[in-house]
Amino acid sequence: MKLTTLNDSPAQPRGPLPMPVTLPHPGPPVEDRPRDGSQQRQKEMIASHFKALARAKADGKKVCYTFVPGNLTELIGALGFLPVLPEINALQSGMRGKSAAYISEAEKAGHSEDVCTYVKCDLGMMLAGNIGPTGEKLPDPDVLLLSYTGCFTFMKWFELLREHYKCPVIMLHVPYQGDGHVTPLMRQYVVDQLRDKVIPELEAIAGKKLDEAELSRRLALSAEAERDLVAVWESAKHRPSPIDGYFGGVYYVGPIFSSFRGTEDAVAYYRELRQETEARIAQGLGPVTPDGNAERERYRLVVEGPPNWTSFFDFWRMFSREGATVVASTYTRVGGLYDQGFQHDPAHPLETLADYAMGCYTNLSLPQRVELLAKYIREYAADGFLINSVKSCNSFSVGQLQMLRALEEKTGVPGGFIESDLVDPRYFGKANISNRLQSYFQMLEARRGGGYT
Ligand code: SF4
Repeated sequence: MKLTTLNDSPAQPRGPLPMPVTLPHPGPPVEDRPRDGSQQRQKEMIASHFKALARAKADGKKVCYTFVPGNLTELIGALGFLPVLPEINALQSGMRGKSAAYISEAEKAGHSEDVCTYVKCDLGMMLAGNIGPTGEKLPDPDVLLLSYTGCFTFMKWFELLREHYKCPVIMLHVPYQGDGHVTPLMRQYVVDQLRDKVIPELEAIAGKKLDEAELSRRLALSAEAERDLVAVWESAKHRPSPIDGYFGGVYYVGPIFSSFRGTEDAVAYYRELRQETEARIAQGLGPVTPDGNAERERYRLVVEGPPNWTSFFDFWRMFSREGATVVASTYTRVGGLYDQGFQHDPAHPLETLADYAMGCYTNLSLPQRVELLAKYIREYAADGFLINSVKSCNSFSVGQLQMLRALEEKTGVPGGFIESDLVDPRYFGKANISNRLQSYFQMLEARRGGGYT
């Protein structure tokens, strides 16, 4: 169903944030409020990355545009490239109230209404001068590196960027887990491409040979950060959960989804975040919400699908004001399923990059996604699960109604279904979504035998 209510969200905090970084609280302007150490650290990391990007050409640095799922961040970093993540630029534009204009720009240039709105937002931003969140122009790419994981749109997106920037594209073909597992041949296929094609082509553009020890060093740093991130995710098994694993979770995955996996900065960030989370458990605190600390944990939910970014805080409040905490979400795992047995292995650099790319959430078959969600529902003791189906994201929304039915049968836990969009405010129907959520929460309450107050 298409929702056409215009977004009426108030302006959201501005800043150099490739992921939402500053958790909002009531009171003084966001910039004046005290932050947790990890929030401040992330803000500074991201600001410094965008500054480095703005200076990249002057500093003689090469720039690599790439996508989040299946990314090869450690390899890119070991070769001295600075990464730019177009879908993160798009979500930033959504949160900063700029996406509607960018999408309109792209539609005027001929891109259809049904195209993924991340793509149109990014293309519109490019056509409007490619100004990043710090107000400075993002550098043009020296190379477009595509790890092809599950979503065909990624490929078409880079074809369009290639036409505009006239720069080379390197494609790592990542076999889809159609049969629900990775075989040794699949792994070898990816390793061979990395060794024989991706690395030599990147080396030629970088003008230097890959330092394998540096790659392994970065992979070891990744594993360290991944362990702490898993501890943060799994803290949501406590009651009350000290975190919101979806609305809060998108802040937590910011560094590891974007440019910082395999860096000391990411290790320090996740160590600090883990300590803060453990301190919240010790104090019996629930998650931070847009209205401050959550006062009660009435419902524990698992969520499938990405959030809406243009009305992110309105959307979040629809949960937090009802005492609904998201204890686990698949969206926060699209940059890596580190809690399912995979963490980067510095002893086997190419194999681990291959396993990472093949194992990311977007590369899983529908039955695997259902299994994973069922596992989260059980392990996080969820009262319900919710699917936010995104109008223009074929990769995520296809099969979601079937997933809903399969999950209800498998777990006996009731599912809810809402529809919105990533960054097109025309498709966030606030009243409609709010009504559906209210009905869903009432149903959860009724199943408990309690009255809904
Ligand atoms: S996964 Fe969805 S949002 Fe991402 S590029 Fe593909 S269609 Fe767009």
